[in-house]
Amino acid sequence: MELLERASTNEHERVVFGTDSAVGYRGIIAIHNTTLGPAVGGIRFWNYSNDEAALEDALRLSRGMTYKNALAGLPFGGGKSIIIGDNKTLERESIFRAHGRFVETFGGHYIAGEDVGTSPSDMEYVRQETRHVAGLAGRSGDPSPSTAHGVFRSVQATAKYRWGSDDIAGRTVALQGCGNVGYHLCKELHQAGVKLVVTDTDPVRRRRCVTELGAKEVQPDEIYGVEADIFAPCALGGILNEQTIPKLNVEVVVGGANNQLLRLEHGNMLEKRNILYAPDYVANAGGVINGCIELLGWERAYAFSKVHAIYDTLLSIFEIAKTDRIPTYRAADRLAERRLGSVNQDGRVHNS
Ligand code: NAD
Repeated sequence: MELLERASTNEHERVVFGTDSAVGYRGIIAIHNTTLGPAVGGIRFWNYSNDEAALEDALRLSRGMTYKNALAGLPFGGGKSIIIGDNKTLERESIFRAHGRFVETFGGHYIAGEDVGTSPSDMEYVRQETRHVAGLAGRSGDPSPSTAHGVFRSVQATAKYRWGSDDIAGRTVALQGCGNVGYHLCKELHQAGVKLVVTDTDPVRRRRCVTELGAKEVQPDEIYGVEADIFAPCALGGILNEQTIPKLNVEVVVGGANNQLLRLEHGNMLEKRNILYAPDYVANAGGVINGCIELLGWERAYAFSKVHAIYDTLLSIFEIAKTDRIPTYRAADRLAERRLGSVNQDGRVHNS
């Protein structure tokens, strides 16, 4: 009963649990909203502390995908799936084929892809059971450069809104996480004449930005206090919270990491400190847009133009925030709900 209550509070259409005891498989597929099209969202393979936490993640992430896909202008709804277990397991074929059979039961209303703990070769196993899967090897390719470019365009848009010009040469960006997205973003920022201060828990990844791009490096816990124009979180979620926000010495937060705000109230905290926040799911939509090369047969150049347009979407969000006197993360939700509402006609994000 509690599950039904929770799913309906977030207006989920379907939340289903799947098991295959013969192979030790347990999973969840959550479809939040299919107003705009079939639900698209990755498969997260994670060892949750309990089933409650797994369900919570499925509900939260699938809802996030509805909003991300809507604002990226894609003909997709939001969904997500979870495989509960150790993502280092070597029993990948049996687990992912079991998940593929589960995905197949949705008959195309849910399309799976990669997420934390999965890889293109895992998607090949899923593909053996269902054609409703993207992220296959050799298709749309690594999404990280597209994601990074979307974040770069978001940096330009926030600069335009905050300082009146999107010329970011000479600005300083403090960047957390020099991984797939962070490294590509550093390269674009460097080319645009930005001064970089970077950190990563992995010193090799950090050093690469120092030697190749002239970045200055700091220890992971020092990044929040770096004096800069922009803070760019490109590592973990939940890093904007009570401990970190008071330390920030920047005017803008814009980065590629998912779920940067630990809780929504932290968006209000940024607002109170007059720090302009670019909502994460808008800034990092380049990856899912890139997936449309595979899902919709888009030309690479067309997909790129859609990533480029994240700039305009963000500026619209900042305008809504100003006009409606609401924090930017709420303005992003509002714009997404407008798109969903315009398709729905009744103006609500609702269930079919
Ligand atoms: P990644 O694993 O390649 O990079 C993350 C980096 O962060 C790693 O180098 C890691 O060492 C570092 N890191 C981890 N904890 C840290 C800490 N406490 N301090 C500093 N550095 C730390 O992952 P990625 O693909 O670059 O993704 C980065 C973020 O962007 C994630 O939140 C991901 O969900 C999000 N994202 C990625 C994509 C994509 O296309 N890859 C798309 C959308 C969103």
